[in-house]
Amino acid sequence: GSSEPSRAVVVTGAASGIGRATVELFAQRGTGVVAVDHDEAGLKAFAGDERIVTLAGDVSSEDANRAAVALALERFGRLDGAVLNAGIGGTLPLEHPGALEAAERILSVNLRGPILGIRTAAPALRASGGGSIVVTASVAGIRADPGNWAYNASKGALLNLVRAASLDYAVQGIRVNALAPGLTRTRITAGVHENPALLSLIARNIPLQRFAEPREQAEAVWFLISPAASYITGTALVVDGGLDAS
Ligand code: NAD
Repeated sequence: GSSEPSRAVVVTGAASGIGRATVELFAQRGTGVVAVDHDEAGLKAFAGDERIVTLAGDVSSEDANRAAVALALERFGRLDGAVLNAGIGGTLPLEHPGALEAAERILSVNLRGPILGIRTAAPALRASGGGSIVVTASVAGIRADPGNWAYNASKGALLNLVRAASLDYAVQGIRVNALAPGLTRTRITAGVHENPALLSLIARNIPLQRFAEPREQAEAVWFLISPAASYITGTALVVDGGLDAS
């Protein structure tokens, strides 16, 4: 009908943090959103907003990725963007007995997830005349942290996945970029926020002297997805309060 949003995106990791702020920002600005998360209860926060349709699923599953794109086409009739944002930490020390299993789970969500997301969204983006994909990497993909090798490896790989995919999809009018957040106040960093002494210690080493709010990451995603970024592909937008420059 005439009240249908004229643009639609899929957002993964939508129930919390950066993903949730992204869903809210896009919906507020009139974009239809398919909000995907394996946290079914968390998705209930979006109930009642006609611009948001939710899907409970795991991004490492091919079926969940297919279902998300199908839902966008069914509900909004098109797909203009994909925000492949779901990600997890949980690295164990390299020689820990469970380290490989934990690393495989991290790579499955953080790397296999976006690989599936890109290849599943591309045909629908193409059908809408092009589109924009944003993958949430991290400054942890540019520089490393102690004890974080599996997460560092997954995010570093994402940055080059984005470059490579941007080359393969450029002729189809599909842009592919990474968001590289620095420290952001979400569930992933909740432990720090519950510890004021630790928080101020870490914040002192960030040039802007504070963590990002999820909304500040969502604004960068909005820019990369929008036609305002029409000549930007194969790059990473670093939103880190100056951390990587320091
Ligand atoms: P968050 O934990 O608040 O949100 C992540 C969401 O992803 C959760 O709702 C979770 O349920 C969902 N998710 C996890 N695994 C999933 C799966 N297999 N399938 C579907 N959904 C899944 O964390 P966040 O900080 O908002 O993280 C979003 C992204 O930002 C992640 O890729 C993370 O690595 C990245 N990032 C975060 C920070 C930070 O400081 N918070 C910094 C750099 C990068």
